[in-house]
Amino acid sequence: MSSTEGHLHLSDAADDHTNTNDPSPTNNGSVRIDPNDLVEIGNCMLCGSEISSEMFRDGQFRVVRCADCQMVWVTPRLKPEVLPSVYNEGYWESTSPKDRGYADYRRAAPLYIKTFRKRYSLIEKFAGTKGRTLDIGCAAGFFLNVMKDKGWEVSGVELSPEIAAYARDTFDLEDIFVGTLDEAPHQEKSFDLVTMWDVIEHIAEPLPFLKRAASLLKDTGCLILETQNVDSRFAKRLGPRWHHYKHLEHLYHFNPKTIERLLDQAGLEIVHLTPRFGGKHVSLGFIRERATRVHGVMKYLLAPLAPLSGMSFYVNMRDEMVIVARKKK
Ligand SMILES: [Zn+2]
Repeated sequence: MSSTEGHLHLSDAADDHTNTNDPSPTNNGSVRIDPNDLVEIGNCMLCGSEISSEMFRDGQFRVVRCADCQMVWVTPRLKPEVLPSVYNEGYWESTSPKDRGYADYRRAAPLYIKTFRKRYSLIEKFAGTKGRTLDIGCAAGFFLNVMKDKGWEVSGVELSPEIAAYARDTFDLEDIFVGTLDEAPHQEKSFDLVTMWDVIEHIAEPLPFLKRAASLLKDTGCLILETQNVDSRFAKRLGPRWHHYKHLEHLYHFNPKTIERLLDQAGLEIVHLTPRFGGKHVSLGFIRERATRVHGVMKYLLAPLAPLSGMSFYVNMRDEMVIVARKKK
């Protein structure tokens, strides 16, 4: 683990911001960040262009789009030395999940496991039925647990020590490296499958990160990643209220073209890209929270369903991309 324990003070403004009728369309306006912890990002990570246009402004943050290649990013963003502190224990049991992290990630274990079981048919189709897999950003180990059950040899990398410990203890996953992918000790060309679920958008320097991930793949191996699609119909309809605009952690927003270009620069080519499998099993309580965000009145319309909050549904807003890529020949 790096020694970069930053001094990020998230003023937990959820307390003075709990009125869900608040007309503010922002996700992050309630969090004030010390300006000294922020850095402006002027150039496009993907093509180097200095020309971008503002999509919208949200508190201290602006979401901008490259005029040349369509890449979307957040500026300013947290400096590299404070960024890791976003993923401390509070991330997994967040008092303000619309700004950062999850309400209670561990408690949702059965839902995540169900979601990954559903995705297994995609794995089977493109990566076969058995082999060595590495899940980068493996969090609580839900995906690795499913893969282990299916007979795969599993390894994980996770920045956050608390959630990695949970994965080890709960699912008996022995090989979880705590730290960054750069620091991880894995051999090149040693994995049949490398996965990253909702990870790439969190990475400040995604190109070297993807190159490193690609280097760990056997020549016949495949990389499967999931990330949100900023140009999906759902994202466009919601505009700034889209739940994936979480500026502390989602530094980039891809569309099919920009993720293809990034993968290409990392020596990978897409063999399959689909919004299918991008859905998630969610509780009814979660649906109520999200629906309220689309329109405040939904809170009241859905209130009679409150006793059913524990029920779960498979929901796919088709605003995520699941991508299978291989090394270019
Ligand atoms: Zn660009």
